[in-house]
Amino acid sequence: MSETRAQTPAGGRRVRSAVAGPGRRTGWDSIYPVINSPTQMSSEEVVRIAQQRGFFFKTAPSYPNTPAGFLDYGPLGVALKGRLVELWRRVIVKRDGMVEIDGSQILPRAVFEASGHLSSFTDPFVKCAKCGSVYRPDKLLEEKTGKAVPEKLSDADYDALMAKAAVRCSKCGASLSGTTRFNMMFRVGIGPAAEEAYLRPETCQSIFVDFPLLYKTQRVKLPIGMAQVGRSFRNEIAPRQGLIRLRELNQAEVEVFFNPKKTDAPRFEWAKTEVLSFRMPDGKDSKMSVAEALASGVVPNLLIGHYLALVTRFYEAAGVPRDLQRLRVLSDEDKAFYSKAAYDLEIKIATGWLELVACNYRGDYDLGGHGRVSGTDFSVDDEGEKVLPHVFELSLGVDRSTYVVIELSMKGEGERRVMALKPYLAPVQACVFPLVNKDGLQEAARAIVTDLNDDFDVFYDESGSIGRRYARADESGAPVCLTVDYDTLKDKTVTLRDRDTRAQERVPVAELAKRLGGLTRFPRSEGQRPRK
Ligand SMILES: [Zn+2]
Repeated sequence: MSETRAQTPAGGRRVRSAVAGPGRRTGWDSIYPVINSPTQMSSEEVVRIAQQRGFFFKTAPSYPNTPAGFLDYGPLGVALKGRLVELWRRVIVKRDGMVEIDGSQILPRAVFEASGHLSSFTDPFVKCAKCGSVYRPDKLLEEKTGKAVPEKLSDADYDALMAKAAVRCSKCGASLSGTTRFNMMFRVGIGPAAEEAYLRPETCQSIFVDFPLLYKTQRVKLPIGMAQVGRSFRNEIAPRQGLIRLRELNQAEVEVFFNPKKTDAPRFEWAKTEVLSFRMPDGKDSKMSVAEALASGVVPNLLIGHYLALVTRFYEAAGVPRDLQRLRVLSDEDKAFYSKAAYDLEIKIATGWLELVACNYRGDYDLGGHGRVSGTDFSVDDEGEKVLPHVFELSLGVDRSTYVVIELSMKGEGERRVMALKPYLAPVQACVFPLVNKDGLQEAARAIVTDLNDDFDVFYDESGSIGRRYARADESGAPVCLTVDYDTLKDKTVTLRDRDTRAQERVPVAELAKRLGGLTRFPRSEGQRPRK
C-alpha cells in the first residue's frame, strides 16, 4: 500500500572563498563560493533545512507523543505547495481542457461499499501476545530477511513466511499473533446517532459519484478529464516519518473518462514523439517514444500515452529532469484485479526511487460499481452511442512531490546552500534589503516591498550582514535579492542579485515589477494545446 496507489478494488552559513563567479559582483557577496558543481544533499539535511526555514515540520511539535504520519506546512511550504499545485493545474488540467471539482472529505458508507474500500482497503497486521506492539508482517519479514515481500499476499501466506523466518516481537521478543486485517479508513459518526461515514481515503471517489451530474451540467464530451486537489486520510499501521507516508495527505488526482473504442484523438498525436523511460516488470529499463511503446504493447493506447507524457512534462516543469523519472510498469501480480494497465511514475532521490503518481487504467470498474450500488445509470451518450466510460487515473501525491522538488532543488558547495527552485515555484519571489539601517534606506526598501507585494510575494529583511541575508534568501529559494543603497536615493535604482549565478546589476525601481513578472511567469504551453 503506498500513498498514491489507489489500491482499492479498489529537506548558509558563511564560508571563506575567493572563487570568482559569473557577472558583476560587489564585495558583499565574495565570501561565498559560486556553486558550479552542485551536489545533492542527504535527506536528513534537506529535512533539517526545510524545518529551519519553515517549509514543513512534524505536527504539534510542542507535544512529543504526537503520532507519526502527520505534518504541518510552514509559511514557505504553504507557498511552495500552492505553486506546485498551480503548475499541475496549468500543465495538466487546463492544457487538457479538464474540469476541476472540490468534493467533501466525509462521504457516506454506501460510497465505500460501492468502491470496495469497506471490504478491501485493509493492511495486514500481527500483534505481540505479551507487550501488545502491532506490526505489519511484510515489514517485519523485510527487516528479518532483507528481501522485498509482495504487498498482496494472503494472510495464510504471511503466517507461513513468518513461521519459516521465526519472526518474533522486535521490542520484547515474545511470539506474535497470526495475521489479521485492519481497515485503514478513518470512521466518523454523523450527528448524535453517529451515522456511519468515513473520511475519504482517496479524493477520486467524489469524481466518480459526481460524474453523471458533471457530464450533464458542464456540457462536456468524452474523453473528459475530471480533476481534484484535496486531503485524504489513511489510518496507516506504521507510517514512516516525513512526507513519504502520511495518515493525512494531499492528493492531486485526475480521472479521465473515455470511450474505450475511441482512444486516438488528433489532440493526443503530439505525444507520439515523446521519449519516456519504462522499468519493465522483469527489472529491465527501456527508453522509448510513445509511438514505440504503443507498437510494443507497453502502452495499450494513445490516450494513455498522452497522459503519461503529460505527467512527465509536469515534473520536468517542476524541475525534475527526465533522466530522474521512470514509469514502472506494474506486473499482473502487482496490479489491482480490475486494472488493465498500471504504471508508477517514480523519481530518483537520495534514498532511491520514490513513487509519486499511480497511473492506472481502471476500466469501467468505478462507474460500474457506483451504478450498481446507487441504482443510477452511469452510462452516457457519446455521439449517439451509449457507453459506460472507462477510466484512466493519474493519482499524484502532493506532499511527496513537494518533498522531491525541495530535495532535488537543494544544491550545496562547502557550506553554501541554495534552493535552486524554478522561479515560478519559489515561495518568496524577491528579498529586499536596505544596505544599512539608517539614512532613510529602510524606508526606501519598505516602499519597494509595499509596491511589489500586490503582485508578488516579497520579503523584507534588515537583520544581520548583507551576506547573512543573502544566505537566508538562497536557502529559501528566492530567485532574486534587491538591495537598496545610497545610490537608490539618488538615481532610483537597486542592485538586483541573481540567486544561481550571483550576478549583480543595477535595475531601475520602476522596472522591478516587469522584471519579476517575466522571471516568475509560469511556463507557456508547447507541444500539445488545450482542446479547441
Ligand atoms: Zn512484544
